[in-house]
Amino acid sequence: MGIKLVVVGAAGRMGRRIIALAMESGRFALVGAVDAASHPDAGKDAGVLAGVGTLGVKVSEEWPAGADVVIDFSLPQAADATIKWCAKHGITLVMGTTGLSDAQKAALRAAGRKTAVVYATNMSVGMNVLFALVGKAAAMLSEAYDIEIIEQHHRFKKDAPSGSAMTLAESICEATGRDVKTALVHGRSGLAPRKPGEIGMHAVRAGDITGVHSVMYAALGDMVTLSHTAQSRDTFVQGALRAAEWLQGQRPGLYSMRDVLGIE
Ligand code: NAD
Repeated sequence: MGIKLVVVGAAGRMGRRIIALAMESGRFALVGAVDAASHPDAGKDAGVLAGVGTLGVKVSEEWPAGADVVIDFSLPQAADATIKWCAKHGITLVMGTTGLSDAQKAALRAAGRKTAVVYATNMSVGMNVLFALVGKAAAMLSEAYDIEIIEQHHRFKKDAPSGSAMTLAESICEATGRDVKTALVHGRSGLAPRKPGEIGMHAVRAGDITGVHSVMYAALGDMVTLSHTAQSRDTFVQGALRAAEWLQGQRPGLYSMRDVLGIE
């Protein structure tokens, strides 16, 4: 029958692609499609919405019993219910929703004591390689290089900076002994001279950009740029499905995409 899957945010941009690619893979069976009751497509068949034909699972705010894994790409306000439900019923969880609060991240860690959870602000393989590289580059280039992070996303994205841009900043801070809370300078306006060690963070919102993240390391005389471009949402979806399969049989714990992909 395949891995019994519940998608949260099922009627959203990501949710529809998760359902479509999960069904195409033949390795999952959709048992639940959770979305807000107020969504205009609530009550419709989730497979029809995803473009893969009738699956007999309606988009609903109701949670079904008997799932193996939940994949959540929704909104932070929906994430509490997902985390609680997975922890209570011991169901594995792939949490892709970004913009979670510190309290929600703590709740994910607590859920990881009851069940196996993957939480990643970016599920694409290429981006996870970039997460691993940016800290190493910062440490190798040393303080002579100013670091600026520029992220670009579509006009519909609600949170800023992106969760992935924050993960890039955290990787750099961890590798160079900076404190991410004090090192980041978000945008600049007015008199804002650069201080040594600060990391500039810039969020561009325009059109239908799927996602571009660049880290610029600039000194007096040269510049290195490490960059990742997501060409389509399917890169995140493939990563989320890979995580969902990897979780089956894992011990309880809070894991990252690096764990899933085996990236050191
Ligand atoms: P979207 O707005 O198209 O979809 C969000 C869906 O969540 C909507 O259908 C909305 O109705 C639904 N929702 C709202 N309240 C809900 C509730 N209480 N219960 C269940 N569902 C509810 O957004 P999107 O572009 O699909 O992105 C969704 C999330 O995924 C965002 O947080 C985005 O940043 C994140 N994202 C993460 C990655 C990653 O790799 N981790 C990649 C892309 C997007």
